[in-house]
Amino acid sequence: MTANRLQVAVLPGSGIGREVTAEAERVLAWFVRHRGLEVDVAHPAYGPEAYKATGRMLPDASLATLKGAHAILFGAAGGPEYDVIPAAEQRAGGLRFLRKELDLFANLRPVKALEATLDASTLKPEVVRGVDMVIVRELTSGIYFGEPRGIETLADGRRRGVNTQVYTSDEIIRVARVAFELARSRSGRLCSVDKANVLESSVLWREEVVKLHSAEYRDVELSHQYVDNAAMQLVRNPRQFDVILTDNIFGDILSDCAAMITGSLGMLPSASLSAPDALGRRHALFEPVHGSAPDIAGQGIANPLGAILSLAMALRHGLGRDDDAALLEAAVGTALGRCRTGDIAAVGQARASTAAMGQAVLDALEG
Ligand code: NAD
Repeated sequence: MTANRLQVAVLPGSGIGREVTAEAERVLAWFVRHRGLEVDVAHPAYGPEAYKATGRMLPDASLATLKGAHAILFGAAGGPEYDVIPAAEQRAGGLRFLRKELDLFANLRPVKALEATLDASTLKPEVVRGVDMVIVRELTSGIYFGEPRGIETLADGRRRGVNTQVYTSDEIIRVARVAFELARSRSGRLCSVDKANVLESSVLWREEVVKLHSAEYRDVELSHQYVDNAAMQLVRNPRQFDVILTDNIFGDILSDCAAMITGSLGMLPSASLSAPDALGRRHALFEPVHGSAPDIAGQGIANPLGAILSLAMALRHGLGRDDDAALLEAAVGTALGRCRTGDIAAVGQARASTAAMGQAVLDALEG
């Protein structure tokens, strides 16, 4: 490892995570060869394989490597490979732990309808054409982390499952600030999504967002939607959205829903960012929105574009290479344009292959 070189850590994870990350790494190697990108790439032990070898999902040495990385490329977590790992170890070394440990509170999930894939969407082309939005999901708090949690047996023998939706004002303000800044750099419109008609945590969410807006972001047009309405609006008229700000669970659900605008869950990238430190350094993890897809794992048919577009986000948000990020996004557009729409929709359905789609991006980069 050389001090002034950029450090990239790759965690393919499980299931199709390995397959799609392999394609992202092939593309990363192209940038090293052709664009003078100077990076050290590490593959720290992680996940089911690390557990088998060491009894730990995330050994200390791996965590140290991740903490020193400018960008972490993550594939996917979960699936049958996790069945042998005790729940306590999954909590101690799983993806949720990693997000919390690196304080990756701001999760950016861009959703863009590309002309070449309009027909691949289950929505009508006239509904999805021109959609270009970013969902900003709070990632390290809310119901996925709140205490108390657990399953207990009551005195009368019934069982009760408990989770707690909880937010503090500082957690809301810091992710809202990311969303306002992003909206300011785009069309200047931000829609905050909550359930303030029912949940106190959402009442606080809305109050803090409104306060921050009046104090610092009056130039941004702020609107609010309840999450049930937002889900309906996403499929009714997705073009109305530019930046959506929402909490952990609502962001998780709404972004899978929004994925269908692009025609495949396998097309969506994401960036998870911490706050910058005094030197401007921050932790940054990049991963496709999808999971390990056990139903298609090992068949070589997963769509790698979410992973490849996550690499583009890593170039932009982790490695300071805006031009290379734009080049890669353009190459994905070109690759899609050269494919038949049927092939794109078919990725994940045994009619197109992961490697062929990765190669199409490499060919587009070659020009
Ligand atoms: P999933 O995202 O893995 O799959 C949902 C559906 O989309 C499946 O039919 C799958 O075949 C398809 N799909 C997903 N990615 C695809 C791709 N790249 N190309 C083509 N088709 C694709 O969600 P799931 O089935 O609900 O969960 C499976 C496992 O993944 C679970 O253990 C879950 O906890 C985990 N998961 C992990 C993450 C993550 O790593 N960030 C996110 C979501 C789910």
